[in-house]
Amino acid sequence: MELSALHANQPDYRKLVAQYGSPLLVLDGDAVRKQFLSLQQALPGVALHYALKPLPHEAVVAVLKELDGYFDLATNGEVDLVRDVGVDPERCIHSHPIKRDSDIRYALEYGCTTFVVDNIVELQKFVAYKHDTKLLLRVSFRNPDTKIDLSKKFGCRQEEALGLLKEAQALGLNVIGLSFHVGSQAVNPMRHSNAIAACREIIENAKQAGIHLSTLDIGGGFPVSYDNKAFDIVEYCTPIRAELAKLPSNIRVLAEPGRYICAPAVTAISSVMGIAERGDQTWYYLDDGVYGSYSGQIYDHMVYPLSFPYAAGEPKLSVLSGPTCDSIDVIREDIMLPPLAVGELVIGHVMGAYTWASATEFNFFRKANFVVVNGPEGCKAEVAA
Ligand SMILES: *Cc1c(COP(=O)(O)O)cnc(C)c1O
Repeated sequence: MELSALHANQPDYRKLVAQYGSPLLVLDGDAVRKQFLSLQQALPGVALHYALKPLPHEAVVAVLKELDGYFDLATNGEVDLVRDVGVDPERCIHSHPIKRDSDIRYALEYGCTTFVVDNIVELQKFVAYKHDTKLLLRVSFRNPDTKIDLSKKFGCRQEEALGLLKEAQALGLNVIGLSFHVGSQAVNPMRHSNAIAACREIIENAKQAGIHLSTLDIGGGFPVSYDNKAFDIVEYCTPIRAELAKLPSNIRVLAEPGRYICAPAVTAISSVMGIAERGDQTWYYLDDGVYGSYSGQIYDHMVYPLSFPYAAGEPKLSVLSGPTCDSIDVIREDIMLPPLAVGELVIGHVMGAYTWASATEFNFFRKANFVVVNGPEGCKAEVAA
């Protein structure tokens, strides 16, 4: 691992831990800004709705609000979060394809009026709200080579789309367009561009049938680098821009980036609680693990770059373990590490997406605290549980 690149502009972790405790998540508002602006540059004219799911944190929402961002909500808790930050509900869509009637009402009471549907049962739920709602029909594009294939669980088949659009029309519903999600951390941009091409065809067929769609939501899935290699989002989006350019000019395009916006914005600091020599390996027990901030190693299938800024000495075969009494709670095995002392800090990078969001408090090990640096206007470095 190239530690030098990781160390550029790094905060004084020891000072932060002395002040705010360990384990600690450092959320850098500037990184959120940088990610949002670079994706905007890569997808000009596309309205970027930050999907809250990977990191539902108010500082991220507040920073994006300052940049005139849009938001993608899926649950009542996410509605509460954007409402509390003072986001204009017209800048939000609700993209969970399956909702209870009470969830629809909750979002409507806030003022969010655009929803996603993907089947007839869900369409029928909107008959009661047909004058107050706009709908996007989610179409499925299977992506078996991503570890997170969201089109297995959600989205109608492409062949079903026109039939559902006609049923919606017959029910008097206001379907304004299509949406999809090609799967998270989609390293191949052809996933997006092929899906856009297929949606263009559906939009054309719908037009032939007298159904005029105005909106295409190209979802999330924009990837980040987890191996400390440079990644150019403008270059990545080249085939996506090419395909978007072929859409009729009246089509409004939106996207729902989650991971891309927040993943690089969080650094996880944990401390060595204990050390044991077992067999030929040195075991280091940290105060954060796969039941905590490293939960993404289980649920999101990602492995985060680690650094050991204060360690020195002869590297030795080692294990980095989480704090709980469960044997699955191991962050990394068989790695060569310089000796670490009790209390020494271990740093996890690119840990903003699907980490704290899915952390548990198993064994009563509390979730890591946040400290926000370079946060929204008027917010000094601030801790929030
Ligand atoms: C999870 C999710 C997103 C965000 O996906 P990323 O891969 O993190 O960009 C966007 N839209 C929907 C509907 C989602 O479920």
